[in-house]
Amino acid sequence: MQKQRLVVATGNAHKLQEIAQIFTQFEVVSQKQMGFCEDVEETGKTFAENALIKARAAAKALNSPVLADDSGLCVDALDGAPGVYSARYSGAHGNDAANRAKLLQALQGEKNRNAHFSCAVALVYPNGKEYVAEGNTYGEILTDESGDGGFGYDPLFFSSDLQKSFGTATPEEKNGVSHRYRALQALLAMIGERV
Ligand code: IMP
Repeated sequence: MQKQRLVVATGNAHKLQEIAQIFTQFEVVSQKQMGFCEDVEETGKTFAENALIKARAAAKALNSPVLADDSGLCVDALDGAPGVYSARYSGAHGNDAANRAKLLQALQGEKNRNAHFSCAVALVYPNGKEYVAEGNTYGEILTDESGDGGFGYDPLFFSSDLQKSFGTATPEEKNGVSHRYRALQALLAMIGERV
C-alpha cells in the first residue's frame, strides 16, 4: 500500500531524518521539497507556540496538513536555559559546536548537571484543525563531549534511559527514547495512524 505523505516544516536535515526514521508509516517530505522555503521567525515563548507558528505558516502556504517540531535542551542549573533558544544559544543560528562550547562554559564547576530535551510537535490542517503533543527525555550534561553521532547537544547529553551519551547511541537507540519519539507517539495517540 502506498504510504501517506506527511509534510514537515523544518529546514533541519537531522530532525527530518529522525522524524522519517520514527514515522516509517508515512512518506516524510520537507516543506522545501514541496516548494515552501520561507524561514519563519520563531517568536514563541514555548516549544508548542513555536511548533504551531511553523506548522501554520507552511500549512497555509501549501494548503496541506503540515507537521512541525520545535525542540531544545533545558538545563536545571541554568533555570531551563537554553530552552527555546537552544539553536541560537551561542548567537549563530544552528552552530552546534559553538552552542556545545558555550554550554560547557556555563556549567563549569557546576555539580547539578540534570537536564532534559523537550519536543513539541504540531500538526496543522489548512482548515484550521490543530493538534499539539509534547515529549521529554531526561539525563545529565557531561563535562566532555562523548561520541559524534546525532546532532546539536547529543555528544554532551548522557541519557538516563540508555546509560550512554546520545552521541554514542545508534539512531535506533536514540529514536527509541528521544523527546521527538515520545512527542510523535503522543501525537499518533491523538490522531490515529492517518494524517
Ligand atoms: P529548533 O529548530 O528551534 O527546534 O532548534 C532545536 C535546537 O535544539 C537544535 O538546533 C539543537 O541545538 C537542539 N536540539 C533539539 N533536539 C535535539 C536532539 O535531539 N539532539 C540534540 N540537540 C537537539
